[in-house]
Amino acid sequence: MFDLGSPIEALAGIGEKVLEKLRKLKIKNARDLLFYLPFRYEDFSNIKNIIDLVAGEKATVAAKILNISNKRTWKRKMIITEALLEDATTPVRAVWFHQPYLTQTLTKGVWVNISGKVSLDKMGLVFSNPAFEILGSENEKGLTFQEGQTLGKVGLHTGGLVAIYPETQGLTSRWLRLKIKALLDNIGDIADFLPDFIAKDFELIELTRALRQIHFPKNNAESQEAKKRLAFQDIFLLQLYVQSEKQKIKSRPAAGVPIDVELIKKFTGSLPFRLTDSQKIASWQILKDMEKPSPMNRLLVGDVGSGKTVVAAIAALNAARHGHQIAFLAPTEILAFQHYKTASQLFANFNLKIGLLTASQKPKSNLAGFDILIGTHALIQKSVRFSNLALVVVDEQHRFGVDQRAALLKDPKHSAVPHLLSMSATPIPRTLALTLYGDLDLSLLKEMPRGRKKIITKVVAPTNREKAYQFIENQVRLGRQIFVICPLIEESEAALMSEVKNATAEYEKLSKNIFPHLKIGLLHGRLKPPEKAEVMRKFKSKKTDILVSTSVVEVGIDVPNASVMMIEGADRFGLSQLHQFRGRVGRAEHQSYCFLFTESPAQATAARLKILAESEDGFRLAEKDLELRGPGQFFGREQSGLPDLAMSSLKDTKLIAEVQQAVKIFLEKDKIENHELLKDRLGEFKREIHWE
Ligand code: ADP
Ligand code: MG
Repeated sequence: MFDLGSPIEALAGIGEKVLEKLRKLKIKNARDLLFYLPFRYEDFSNIKNIIDLVAGEKATVAAKILNISNKRTWKRKMIITEALLEDATTPVRAVWFHQPYLTQTLTKGVWVNISGKVSLDKMGLVFSNPAFEILGSENEKGLTFQEGQTLGKVGLHTGGLVAIYPETQGLTSRWLRLKIKALLDNIGDIADFLPDFIAKDFELIELTRALRQIHFPKNNAESQEAKKRLAFQDIFLLQLYVQSEKQKIKSRPAAGVPIDVELIKKFTGSLPFRLTDSQKIASWQILKDMEKPSPMNRLLVGDVGSGKTVVAAIAALNAARHGHQIAFLAPTEILAFQHYKTASQLFANFNLKIGLLTASQKPKSNLAGFDILIGTHALIQKSVRFSNLALVVVDEQHRFGVDQRAALLKDPKHSAVPHLLSMSATPIPRTLALTLYGDLDLSLLKEMPRGRKKIITKVVAPTNREKAYQFIENQVRLGRQIFVICPLIEESEAALMSEVKNATAEYEKLSKNIFPHLKIGLLHGRLKPPEKAEVMRKFKSKKTDILVSTSVVEVGIDVPNASVMMIEGADRFGLSQLHQFRGRVGRAEHQSYCFLFTESPAQATAARLKILAESEDGFRLAEKDLELRGPGQFFGREQSGLPDLAMSSLKDTKLIAEVQQAVKIFLEKDKIENHELLKDRLGEFKREIHWE
């Protein structure tokens, strides 16, 4: 007998070679294999007599092999296995390619299920490369199969819905089905961590049954039922974490910060612009939250360029003035540096100590002496103990601001919890926001600062590339600057390097062939932080005209003089990401442009890019993105760590709402501590998705 923890090599027929492949799929124990889920099913449930087969359909027949042999095609050196099979009605042919060993098991007189697509060639109907399953053999004593007994038999690989798995590393779905079946037959009941009353209230099937049904469903209803159950439990864990964390935080005190209206008036009066109405409302909501002695949990969403920084600055100034410290977390060093400069300017006359903490730049004086400390997420979390932290601002991080705050709270003596303000330019679809943040409070910056013109967005056909270059040249002559974004490379070990190579090649091409008389800069992830800062400094101070960059400029960079955003390989990016890029221009009074280049001729790409050209509504683009490309978009390039099924279920509004309800009921009626299994599983789950 096996249990979930049994090592995978305990299963029969798993040698060193296979083990290696399984390891690459991160399948180490029984549990990993059982939760290696199919991504679709082949429907072989159309079971027929051979005489009723129709060309073009997918069907299953039960038949006896009349003869079978390997042939070599004369043109190529391919081996074809050809068989003639017969049931009680009539014969039919089947062919397989490149599988000469089949004749060892499929021999004359053997009864098989054959499932696959039927086609018509010169010699009549034929199954090509069908799935098969041996039912028995006439040759074996006491085993005689007759049409009446075999027809309609559903097997592992034929005759019903057949699971298809991601077949990486050369492990076939057929192989996986065999092993998973063997495991399910020898594992008994799997302990279920989902509380009974939840399973009952929400009509969920048992875990063991769900696993059987997801791998070997009798019909669609069974697979759906199983999928729902399994997705439910993952999202339940996710929600349970988010909501219980929130409950925990809510029950702790925070510093209530009085609102110093005079100070804020003085500050806004010192700005070179007037706040938009949205900025005023958002600032007020934040100040009101922070006035209360319980922790704020607010997300500030506003398109790129809508002016989120100054809103955070108001909250920071007010808190600092009452003797508190503020941590400002940026996703990259470049942004941390930019925020540091902005803050230094904004607060020039307010006598605040502002510190910058990056990998390359350690502050000279004692950290505890700062009012506002700006740095990257990773750095601040690791290396700083604050003495009086009252506000954490998390900029452009689409993950769970919650765990940043948690990490800053490692000091047990410090019982007050800091207020949390997350800021994002990526409007997150509502279902996702609810799942990832729980029911957090939301402030929206709806309008752009005055004087901004609509950015003209165009998908540029390859034939118009020259024209676009001319246009760019003109813009530079008018004194403007240009961004060129190089295509995103799919995530892989070599991705960073090839991205660098790409950007470097583009840089060479533009500076040697296209714009030899213009000054061009290059920015990519392999540059050291001081080098990056230098490239950015040159661009900001107009020492370079064109900045060629990988997607590192995606978030937050502010160069108001830039008027053209040119994106190569635009089809590789999500709409939200493209929208972010576009927001890098049009940040001042100049009419600005976004040019999208794509080599992809696909209809779908064109339609998608057209949506971007037509819409400036970040929320709409986000919803579209979720629909077209799934939730992965909203976690940035780093993986969410969530299982695939849970990931794809994040699109399922109804399920999410149900789980939300379930978690609420659970936390009201019960406690995690009362459920040993659930507690353990939650711990594991957090580690799996790298929250702890
Ligand atoms: P984001 O929301 O993308 O973080 P920023 O805070 O970087 O935007 O602001 C973008 C630019 O707009 C900055 O140069 C900032 O000084 C400017 N800005 C912010 N608010 C206003 C306003 N109300 N009127 C004019 N310019 C503004
Ligand atoms: Mg910003």
